[in-house]
Amino acid sequence: MNIGTLPRIRLANLPTPLEEARRLGEALGGVRLFVKRDDDTGLATGGNKARKLEFVMGDAVRQGCDTVITTGGVQSNHARMTAAAAAKLGMKRVLVLEGSKPEDYQGNLLLDKVLGAELSFVPEGSDVDAEMAKVASRLRAEGAKPFVIPLGGSTPTGAVGYVLCAMEMVSQVVDMGLKVDQVFIATGSGGTMAGLLLGLKALAPGAKVWGISVGKGSGRLRDTIAGIASEAADLVGWPVRVEPEEVLIDDSYVGEGYGIPSPECIDATRLAANTEGLILDPVYTGKAMAGLMGHVKQGMIRPGETVVFVHTGGAASLFAYDRWF
Ligand SMILES: *Cc1c(COP(=O)(O)O)cnc(C)c1O
Repeated sequence: MNIGTLPRIRLANLPTPLEEARRLGEALGGVRLFVKRDDDTGLATGGNKARKLEFVMGDAVRQGCDTVITTGGVQSNHARMTAAAAAKLGMKRVLVLEGSKPEDYQGNLLLDKVLGAELSFVPEGSDVDAEMAKVASRLRAEGAKPFVIPLGGSTPTGAVGYVLCAMEMVSQVVDMGLKVDQVFIATGSGGTMAGLLLGLKALAPGAKVWGISVGKGSGRLRDTIAGIASEAADLVGWPVRVEPEEVLIDDSYVGEGYGIPSPECIDATRLAANTEGLILDPVYTGKAMAGLMGHVKQGMIRPGETVVFVHTGGAASLFAYDRWF
Protein backbone atom coordinates (compact mmCIF):
# COMPACT_ATOMS: atom_id res chain seq x y z
CA MET A 1 0.00 0.00 0.00
CA ASN A 2 1.17 3.51 -0.81
CA ILE A 3 0.66 6.27 1.80
CA GLY A 4 -1.25 8.31 -0.79
CA THR A 5 -3.79 5.55 -1.41
CA LEU A 6 -4.82 4.93 2.21
CA PRO A 7 -8.39 6.12 2.76
CA ARG A 8 -8.23 9.56 4.39
CA ILE A 9 -10.78 12.23 5.21
CA ARG A 10 -9.42 15.72 5.72
CA LEU A 11 -10.32 16.89 9.23
CA ALA A 12 -7.28 18.82 10.48
CA ASN A 13 -6.04 22.28 9.50
CA LEU A 14 -2.59 21.41 8.20
CA PRO A 15 0.24 22.17 8.28
CA THR A 16 0.26 23.28 11.91
CA PRO A 17 2.74 26.07 12.75
CA LEU A 18 6.19 25.40 14.16
CA GLU A 19 6.86 28.33 16.48
CA GLU A 20 10.04 29.28 18.28
CA ALA A 21 9.45 29.65 22.04
CA ARG A 22 12.27 32.08 22.77
CA ARG A 23 11.25 33.28 26.20
CA LEU A 24 10.48 29.78 27.43
CA GLY A 25 13.77 28.52 25.98
CA GLU A 26 15.60 31.29 27.84
CA ALA A 27 13.77 30.49 31.06
CA LEU A 28 15.11 26.94 30.66
CA GLY A 29 18.68 28.25 30.57
CA GLY A 30 19.09 28.83 26.82
CA VAL A 31 17.42 25.97 24.96
CA ARG A 32 16.68 26.46 21.24
CA LEU A 33 13.07 25.46 21.61
CA PHE A 34 10.33 25.14 19.02
CA VAL A 35 6.72 24.19 19.59
CA LYS A 36 4.88 22.13 16.96
CA ARG A 37 1.38 23.51 17.36
CA ASP A 38 -0.74 20.38 16.98
CA ASP A 39 -3.08 21.96 19.50
CA ASP A 40 -4.06 24.13 16.53
CA THR A 41 -5.44 21.41 14.26
CA GLY A 42 -9.05 22.50 14.73
CA LEU A 43 -11.85 19.95 15.35
CA ALA A 44 -13.72 21.10 18.48
CA THR A 45 -10.66 22.90 19.97
CA GLY A 46 -7.94 20.77 18.39
CA GLY A 47 -5.26 18.29 19.35
CA ASN A 48 -3.27 15.30 18.14
CA LYS A 49 -6.30 13.05 17.59
CA ALA A 50 -7.28 15.08 14.50
CA ARG A 51 -4.38 13.66 12.49
CA LYS A 52 -5.13 10.09 13.56
CA LEU A 53 -8.83 10.50 12.91
CA GLU A 54 -8.22 11.50 9.30
CA PHE A 55 -7.10 7.94 8.61
CA VAL A 56 -9.26 6.12 11.18
CA MET A 57 -12.44 7.82 9.95
CA GLY A 58 -11.29 7.29 6.37
CA ASP A 59 -11.31 3.59 7.14
CA ALA A 60 -14.74 3.76 8.84
CA VAL A 61 -16.32 5.56 5.87
CA ARG A 62 -14.70 3.19 3.37
CA GLN A 63 -16.30 0.30 5.27
CA GLY A 64 -19.69 1.99 4.94
CA CYS A 65 -20.16 2.55 8.68
CA ASP A 66 -22.71 5.06 9.97
CA THR A 67 -21.84 5.06 13.69
CA VAL A 68 -18.61 5.31 15.65
CA ILE A 69 -18.01 4.02 19.16
CA THR A 70 -14.93 4.91 21.14
CA THR A 71 -13.66 5.12 24.69
CA GLY A 72 -11.52 7.14 27.07
CA GLY A 73 -11.52 8.75 30.48
CA VAL A 74 -14.26 11.20 31.45
CA GLN A 75 -12.00 14.06 30.27
CA SER A 76 -10.84 12.23 27.14
CA ASN A 77 -9.66 14.53 24.34
CA HIS A 78 -9.84 11.58 21.96
CA ALA A 79 -13.52 10.96 22.76
CA ARG A 80 -14.36 14.64 22.24
CA MET A 81 -12.51 14.85 18.93
CA THR A 82 -14.01 11.60 17.68
CA ALA A 83 -17.49 12.94 18.50
CA ALA A 84 -16.69 16.10 16.55
CA ALA A 85 -15.36 14.15 13.55
CA ALA A 86 -18.42 11.90 13.54
CA ALA A 87 -20.77 14.89 13.73
CA LYS A 88 -18.95 16.50 10.81
CA LEU A 89 -19.38 13.32 8.76
CA GLY A 90 -23.03 12.84 9.71
CA MET A 91 -22.36 9.73 11.77
CA LYS A 92 -23.87 8.73 15.09
CA ARG A 93 -21.38 8.84 18.01
CA VAL A 94 -21.30 6.79 21.18
CA LEU A 95 -18.68 7.33 23.90
CA VAL A 96 -17.94 4.73 26.56
CA LEU A 97 -16.31 6.79 29.30
CA GLU A 98 -14.40 5.19 32.14
CA GLY A 99 -15.20 6.89 35.44
CA SER A 100 -18.18 8.15 37.36
CA LYS A 101 -20.72 10.56 35.96
CA PRO A 102 -19.93 13.95 37.52
CA GLU A 103 -22.49 16.45 38.81
CA ASP A 104 -21.15 19.20 36.56
CA TYR A 105 -20.22 18.65 32.96
CA GLN A 106 -16.96 20.51 32.41
CA GLY A 107 -14.22 20.65 29.80
CA ASN A 108 -14.27 17.80 27.30
CA LEU A 109 -17.37 16.24 28.80
CA LEU A 110 -19.36 19.41 28.25
CA LEU A 111 -18.17 19.44 24.64
CA ASP A 112 -19.18 15.77 24.21
CA LYS A 113 -22.68 16.70 25.27
CA VAL A 114 -22.85 19.75 23.02
CA LEU A 115 -21.56 17.58 20.15
CA GLY A 116 -24.54 15.28 20.57
CA ALA A 117 -22.67 12.17 21.62
CA GLU A 118 -24.48 9.34 23.40
CA LEU A 119 -22.58 8.88 26.68
CA SER A 120 -22.19 5.69 28.66
CA PHE A 121 -20.26 5.79 31.95
CA VAL A 122 -18.57 2.58 33.08
CA PRO A 123 -16.71 2.06 36.38
CA GLU A 124 -12.95 2.60 36.40
CA GLY A 125 -11.10 -0.60 35.66
CA SER A 126 -13.87 -1.94 33.38
CA ASP A 127 -13.02 -3.96 30.30
CA VAL A 128 -13.81 -1.08 27.94
CA ASP A 129 -13.27 -3.18 24.81
CA ALA A 130 -15.96 -5.59 26.01
CA GLU A 131 -18.23 -2.65 26.86
CA MET A 132 -17.78 -1.20 23.36
CA ALA A 133 -18.47 -4.61 21.81
CA LYS A 134 -21.75 -4.75 23.77
CA VAL A 135 -22.77 -1.32 22.47
CA ALA A 136 -21.80 -2.39 18.94
CA SER A 137 -23.97 -5.51 19.02
CA ARG A 138 -26.94 -3.57 20.41
CA LEU A 139 -26.58 -1.01 17.59
CA ARG A 140 -26.15 -3.74 14.98
CA ALA A 141 -29.40 -5.33 16.16
CA GLU A 142 -31.05 -1.94 15.60
CA GLY A 143 -29.77 -1.92 12.01
CA ALA A 144 -26.79 0.42 12.42
CA LYS A 145 -23.29 -0.18 11.03
CA PRO A 146 -20.98 0.63 13.93
CA PHE A 147 -17.22 1.12 13.77
CA VAL A 148 -15.28 0.66 17.01
CA ILE A 149 -12.21 2.84 17.57
CA PRO A 150 -9.91 1.55 20.33
CA LEU A 151 -8.51 3.77 23.10
CA GLY A 152 -6.79 6.87 21.73
CA GLY A 153 -7.30 5.79 18.13
CA SER A 154 -3.91 4.16 18.54
CA THR A 155 -4.07 1.72 15.66
CA PRO A 156 -1.42 1.44 12.94
CA THR A 157 -3.91 3.24 10.66
CA GLY A 158 -4.19 6.16 13.09
CA ALA A 159 -0.41 6.31 13.54
CA VAL A 160 0.00 7.06 9.82
CA GLY A 161 -1.32 10.57 10.62
CA TYR A 162 1.84 11.10 12.68
CA VAL A 163 4.13 9.82 9.97
CA LEU A 164 2.82 12.78 7.99
CA CYS A 165 3.39 15.07 10.99
CA ALA A 166 7.05 13.97 11.08
CA MET A 167 7.37 14.89 7.40
CA GLU A 168 5.78 18.27 8.04
CA MET A 169 8.00 18.99 11.06
CA VAL A 170 11.26 18.03 9.34
CA SER A 171 10.40 20.17 6.38
CA GLN A 172 9.69 23.17 8.64
CA VAL A 173 12.90 22.74 10.64
CA VAL A 174 15.00 22.29 7.51
CA ASP A 175 13.44 25.42 5.98
CA MET A 176 14.87 27.37 8.95
CA GLY A 177 18.32 26.02 8.18
CA LEU A 178 18.29 23.75 11.25
CA LYS A 179 18.11 20.05 12.03
CA VAL A 180 16.00 18.23 14.60
CA ASP A 181 18.10 17.01 17.54
CA GLN A 182 15.50 16.13 20.17
CA VAL A 183 11.73 15.85 20.19
CA PHE A 184 9.51 15.69 23.27
CA ILE A 185 5.97 14.34 23.19
CA ALA A 186 3.43 13.20 25.75
CA THR A 187 2.61 9.53 25.34
CA GLY A 188 -0.46 7.72 26.60
CA SER A 189 -1.85 4.96 24.37
CA GLY A 190 1.24 5.26 22.15
CA GLY A 191 -0.06 5.70 18.60
CA THR A 192 1.07 9.29 18.24
CA MET A 193 4.65 8.57 19.25
CA ALA A 194 4.67 5.41 17.10
CA GLY A 195 3.89 7.36 13.92
CA LEU A 196 6.23 10.20 14.75
CA LEU A 197 9.08 7.85 15.57
CA LEU A 198 8.61 5.94 12.33
CA GLY A 199 8.59 9.13 10.26
CA LEU A 200 11.61 10.61 12.03
CA LYS A 201 13.53 7.35 11.78
CA ALA A 202 13.34 7.75 8.02
CA LEU A 203 13.72 11.53 7.73
CA ALA A 204 15.84 12.62 10.69
CA PRO A 205 17.93 9.63 11.72
CA GLY A 206 19.86 10.36 14.89
CA ALA A 207 17.16 12.64 16.28
CA LYS A 208 16.15 11.56 19.78
CA VAL A 209 12.39 11.21 20.26
CA TRP A 210 11.46 11.24 23.94
CA GLY A 211 8.03 9.99 24.92
CA ILE A 212 7.11 11.32 28.34
CA SER A 213 4.65 8.81 29.73
CA VAL A 214 1.48 10.13 31.33
CA GLY A 215 0.29 6.78 32.64
CA LYS A 216 1.86 3.46 31.83
CA GLY A 217 5.29 2.16 32.79
CA SER A 218 8.03 2.32 30.20
CA GLY A 219 8.39 -1.42 29.48
CA ARG A 220 4.85 -1.98 28.30
CA LEU A 221 4.78 1.25 26.31
CA ARG A 222 8.01 0.43 24.46
CA ASP A 223 6.53 -2.85 23.21
CA THR A 224 3.19 -1.26 22.31
CA ILE A 225 4.81 1.62 20.41
CA ALA A 226 7.31 -0.56 18.56
CA GLY A 227 4.44 -2.86 17.52
CA ILE A 228 2.20 -0.05 16.24
CA ALA A 229 5.12 1.63 14.44
CA SER A 230 6.16 -1.58 12.69
CA GLU A 231 2.59 -2.31 11.57
CA ALA A 232 2.20 1.28 10.37
CA ALA A 233 5.40 0.79 8.33
CA ASP A 234 3.75 -2.24 6.68
CA LEU A 235 0.66 -0.14 5.93
CA VAL A 236 2.65 2.52 4.12
CA GLY A 237 4.90 0.00 2.42
CA TRP A 238 8.20 0.82 4.14
CA PRO A 239 10.49 -2.15 4.72
CA VAL A 240 11.31 -0.81 8.21
CA ARG A 241 10.90 -2.28 11.71
CA VAL A 242 10.95 -0.35 14.97
CA GLU A 243 12.39 -2.32 17.89
CA PRO A 244 11.38 -1.71 21.53
CA GLU A 245 14.98 -0.67 22.34
CA GLU A 246 14.66 2.25 19.90
CA VAL A 247 11.68 3.67 21.79
CA LEU A 248 12.83 6.23 24.38
CA ILE A 249 10.26 6.44 27.16
CA ASP A 250 10.68 8.40 30.36
CA ASP A 251 8.04 7.37 32.88
CA SER A 252 9.39 9.41 35.78
CA TYR A 253 6.93 12.28 35.27
CA VAL A 254 3.66 10.33 35.64
CA GLY A 255 3.28 11.47 39.25
CA GLU A 256 0.46 9.73 41.11
CA GLY A 257 -1.15 8.48 37.93
CA TYR A 258 -3.06 9.20 34.76
CA GLY A 259 -5.10 12.38 35.02
CA ILE A 260 -3.58 13.44 38.34
CA PRO A 261 -1.42 16.54 37.87
CA SER A 262 1.97 16.48 39.61
CA PRO A 263 3.47 19.64 41.17
CA GLU A 264 6.06 19.67 38.31
CA CYS A 265 3.22 19.51 35.77
CA ILE A 266 1.44 22.47 37.36
CA ASP A 267 4.73 24.45 37.43
CA ALA A 268 5.47 23.65 33.78
CA THR A 269 1.94 24.64 32.75
CA ARG A 270 2.29 27.97 34.57
CA LEU A 271 5.75 28.62 33.10
CA ALA A 272 4.61 28.04 29.48
CA ALA A 273 1.57 30.27 30.04
CA ASN A 274 3.61 33.04 31.66
CA THR A 275 6.51 33.09 29.21
CA GLU A 276 4.73 32.37 25.93
CA GLY A 277 0.99 32.74 26.51
CA LEU A 278 0.95 29.04 25.63
CA ILE A 279 -1.74 26.92 27.26
CA LEU A 280 -0.70 23.36 28.10
CA ASP A 281 -2.99 20.84 29.77
CA PRO A 282 -2.81 19.12 33.16
CA VAL A 283 -3.04 15.51 31.86
CA TYR A 284 -0.61 15.30 28.94
CA THR A 285 1.37 18.31 27.75
CA GLY A 286 2.04 19.73 31.23
CA LYS A 287 3.72 16.45 32.16
CA ALA A 288 5.61 16.34 28.85
CA MET A 289 6.91 19.86 29.46
CA ALA A 290 7.88 18.85 33.00
CA GLY A 291 9.88 16.03 31.38
CA LEU A 292 11.62 18.42 29.00
CA MET A 293 12.47 20.71 31.94
CA GLY A 294 13.78 17.74 33.92
CA HIS A 295 16.01 16.69 31.02
CA VAL A 296 17.43 20.24 30.83
CA LYS A 297 18.20 20.14 34.57
CA GLN A 298 19.92 16.79 34.19
CA GLY A 299 22.14 18.12 31.38
CA MET A 300 20.57 15.77 28.82
CA ILE A 301 20.10 18.58 26.30
CA ARG A 302 23.36 20.07 25.01
CA PRO A 303 23.69 23.82 24.26
CA GLY A 304 22.94 24.57 20.63
CA GLU A 305 20.68 21.55 20.11
CA THR A 306 17.35 22.14 18.40
CA VAL A 307 14.50 20.83 20.52
CA VAL A 308 10.94 20.43 19.28
CA PHE A 309 8.12 20.13 21.79
CA VAL A 310 5.03 18.62 20.17
CA HIS A 311 2.01 20.36 21.64
CA THR A 312 -0.62 17.65 21.34
CA GLY A 313 -3.52 19.79 22.63
CA GLY A 314 -5.77 19.00 25.56
CA ALA A 315 -6.45 22.50 26.85
CA ALA A 316 -10.20 21.75 27.04
CA SER A 317 -9.60 19.53 30.08
CA LEU A 318 -8.04 22.47 31.95
CA PHE A 319 -11.57 23.71 32.67
CA ALA A 320 -12.20 20.61 34.78
CA TYR A 321 -9.02 21.20 36.83
CA ASP A 322 -9.61 24.67 38.29
CA ARG A 323 -8.91 23.59 41.86
CA TRP A 324 -5.36 22.52 40.95
CA PHE A 325 -4.46 26.07 39.95
C1 LIG B 1 -4.21 11.42 23.50
C2 LIG B 1 -3.28 12.53 23.83
C3 LIG B 1 -1.89 12.34 23.87
C4 LIG B 1 -1.24 11.00 23.73
O1 LIG B 1 -1.40 10.40 22.49
P1 LIG B 1 -1.33 8.81 22.41
O2 LIG B 1 -1.36 8.53 20.98
O3 LIG B 1 -2.52 8.29 23.17
O4 LIG B 1 -0.07 8.36 23.07
C5 LIG B 1 -1.08 13.42 24.15
N1 LIG B 1 -1.60 14.63 24.38
C6 LIG B 1 -2.93 14.86 24.35
C7 LIG B 1 -3.41 16.23 24.65
C8 LIG B 1 -3.81 13.82 24.07
O5 LIG B 1 -5.12 14.05 24.08
